[in-house]
Amino acid sequence: MTEFKRDGSQLVSTPPVDKWDDWGELDPEAWPRRVEKHYQLVPTICFNCESACGLLAYVDKATGQIDKFEGNPMHPASRGRLCAKGPATITQIHDPDRILYPMKRSGPRGGGKWTRTSWDEVLETFGTRIRKAMQDNRGEEVMYHVGRPGHDFIMERTLQAWGIDGHNSHTNVCSSSARLGYLLWHHADRPSPDHANARFILLLSAHLESGHYFNPHAQRIIEGKMAGAKLAVMDPRLSNTASMADYWMPSYPGTETAVLLAMAMVILSENRFDAAFVRNWTNWEELEVDGFSAKGQSFEALIEALKRHYAKFTPEFAEKESGVKAEVIVKTAREIATAGSRFASHLWRGSSSGNLGGWQSARALMLLHVLTGSVGTPGGHNLNAWNKFVPRPYKNPPPQKRWNELLYPPEWPLCVHEMSPLLPHFLKEGRGRIEAYFTRVFNPVWTYPDGFSWIEMLRDEEKVGLHAALTPTWSETAWFADYVLPMGFSSERHDLMSQESYAGRWIGFRQPVLRVLQEREGKKFDYTYQANPGEVWEEDEFWINLSWAIDPDGSMGIRQWFESPYRPGQKLTVDEYYGWIFENSVPGLPAAAAKEGLKPLEYMRKYGAYEVTTDVHRLNEKPVAPADLTGSSVEANGVVKKDGKSVGVMVEGKAVVGYNTPSRKLELFSKTMADWKWPEFALPEYYRSHIHRSAQAASTGESVDDFDKRYMPLVEWPKDANGPVYTLLPIFRLPHLIHSRSGNSKFLYEMAHKNPLWLNPTDAAKLGDIRTGDLLKVHTEAGYFVLHAWVTEGLAPGVVACSHHMGRWRLNKEDHVERMSSAWVDLKEVGKGQWKMRQLSGVAP
Ligand code: SF4
Repeated sequence: MTEFKRDGSQLVSTPPVDKWDDWGELDPEAWPRRVEKHYQLVPTICFNCESACGLLAYVDKATGQIDKFEGNPMHPASRGRLCAKGPATITQIHDPDRILYPMKRSGPRGGGKWTRTSWDEVLETFGTRIRKAMQDNRGEEVMYHVGRPGHDFIMERTLQAWGIDGHNSHTNVCSSSARLGYLLWHHADRPSPDHANARFILLLSAHLESGHYFNPHAQRIIEGKMAGAKLAVMDPRLSNTASMADYWMPSYPGTETAVLLAMAMVILSENRFDAAFVRNWTNWEELEVDGFSAKGQSFEALIEALKRHYAKFTPEFAEKESGVKAEVIVKTAREIATAGSRFASHLWRGSSSGNLGGWQSARALMLLHVLTGSVGTPGGHNLNAWNKFVPRPYKNPPPQKRWNELLYPPEWPLCVHEMSPLLPHFLKEGRGRIEAYFTRVFNPVWTYPDGFSWIEMLRDEEKVGLHAALTPTWSETAWFADYVLPMGFSSERHDLMSQESYAGRWIGFRQPVLRVLQEREGKKFDYTYQANPGEVWEEDEFWINLSWAIDPDGSMGIRQWFESPYRPGQKLTVDEYYGWIFENSVPGLPAAAAKEGLKPLEYMRKYGAYEVTTDVHRLNEKPVAPADLTGSSVEANGVVKKDGKSVGVMVEGKAVVGYNTPSRKLELFSKTMADWKWPEFALPEYYRSHIHRSAQAASTGESVDDFDKRYMPLVEWPKDANGPVYTLLPIFRLPHLIHSRSGNSKFLYEMAHKNPLWLNPTDAAKLGDIRTGDLLKVHTEAGYFVLHAWVTEGLAPGVVACSHHMGRWRLNKEDHVERMSSAWVDLKEVGKGQWKMRQLSGVAP
């Protein structure tokens, strides 16, 4: 905690922990009178993105109400700092339009008529329907579809306990592509950059401003910069992040991989790569490319083969593809080589989504880390699995026995996440139906590109038997549910979270603030909804109780997983679930708690977070455990095997654990891709995607060089467009917005409530002297929309951009809607599969 001294008095940036039970502050509303207000401060975790920053709820001792949220200085990742969305939680919990009670529809689906119901009725209805489906061997008809998880493992455990493959997510329209690229290298699907200690940071998106680990990363990127690191941002938009960068590289979407490979080629051709690292830690001996096989060849021959293979990626070629200047590519490549093992980067959506082949940008970015030996190093790229810490509960059910092919369809054998955008189409084709469908903080009707297909699916009671929207706010999707079930915000629920925010491991504990405070005073609650506003509940207790409702007598084998570890045969409580984890699964926590005379659960309730370790570097170099070595054997490729399973790899004569890949090394050459008959994807490669400019040229009959047209036929650029054709960049959001839930926060909507189409002045001139504020009609493959123009040099020419986090709509003018953030609209089905929406009135105070 930072302390500032001035004139003998002491100002503190955050209240010290020993004052949390009684913290006095002047009441700003009483100004100019000096009236002191007294608060109890209770830590919890922000629920407004997946960063899981620590909040402190300020509960007014006089009223018992939460007055505001600030940062928790004891949280190791956020360290007392928040983005705008953390403090804005206060407007979410006091939103006059929020849902306070479980609601059941009272007319046709989508009719907008609701009546209040009880949690008991909800549990009984769903428990009965799900039990029957399972007894009829139709378990795959039960589906949980999540937008924003906000917790670790408990839901996966619940679905495994039910014995079903019922988990669906939105990931395939988000980070899935980048994750595949990382996964093929090291089997961890995300990077964990050590920004604070880096010398050079490369971001392939607006990561500092609005990326997945936003605030914890942003503060460390700036720390790195303050210590002398250079920052480069490759993004067609001049985001707030790019505006802080030493190098803004406004690449044409889908061409980033060409730039990365050109950088790799600079490092290779100037022999500035870390040869020892590449030799020891990649599976280079398995490489086969352009008729060259590395088997039995020298390492030097391999390097020559790589140089030949990537020779076409000259800086000039990359400039032609991407628009990024050749000299900038060379300069940044050299700076990356100089940073060496202290080169950090991040990619989440950015270059990887919205273009075919985008997943290869993660493959190519990792190649830079491999060449510089910056994997597992201080200031380098760590694996998320090394930093994110998910402690295990008291017992865990076995994985489900059957795949659900509505989620993992056989046509996509390598999809790494559920193919969720296809669900309405699969149901239309008759591939299956859903008996019980839970959408959970998820709004596909509004989020997905073809949201109206979701309306068609959701209102069909044959295809979707029963639909519950578990949500804190009204949404376009909740409108088409049978039940709308209010779930809590940051201060109204339990969850355990961890993220790969920095070079360390930590856990954060979200807790229902008013319940915790009243329990401290001796009041008893069976369920969190008894302490929350209205009857707002939390998912943890909901799933435990629903599991008991499905299997009331335990005969289905489900109930056993939701029984107390301390009171055999009794229903598990949230205190018991987390208490057991904190006592048994978090190294060091029981001792830290004991030092203060607390139980581990009491410690977590007091501080809200715990740092497990900061010893997270080079975990691949850990020696294989002696027990694993006994009776093991070493394969020809150096992999150490025991009982048919690989447990490590030989490196420089030592048996070390390596990476969790087939070769136990970083997979420069993905044998997995080759074995699955995609040898052309086995190395990091660049392919021109369907949005490449040459695809546009080809569609209008212009001649195109023959670099690679693999994807071009998949999408035909319109030949008869009534105006120029542009790539639409929809894969960014403004940093103050919360995916699909900003509408519930007055503070955030006051900051950002316009969603214009960005376009470069050269394009504005080409289109006929377009001025900021003019109305534009944008046609896409799915239809058209109308919006205002914003003419800005903050976007590369040839691209138009529109954030994906605004444009909310509602069908009722007043009731059961979020009024302040949505337009009241008239929605009509004007033909088969054709919909038209017109505003009746726009957003108003
Ligand atoms: S980055 Fe902002 S929204 Fe995300 S958890 Fe932290 S404070 Fe909340």
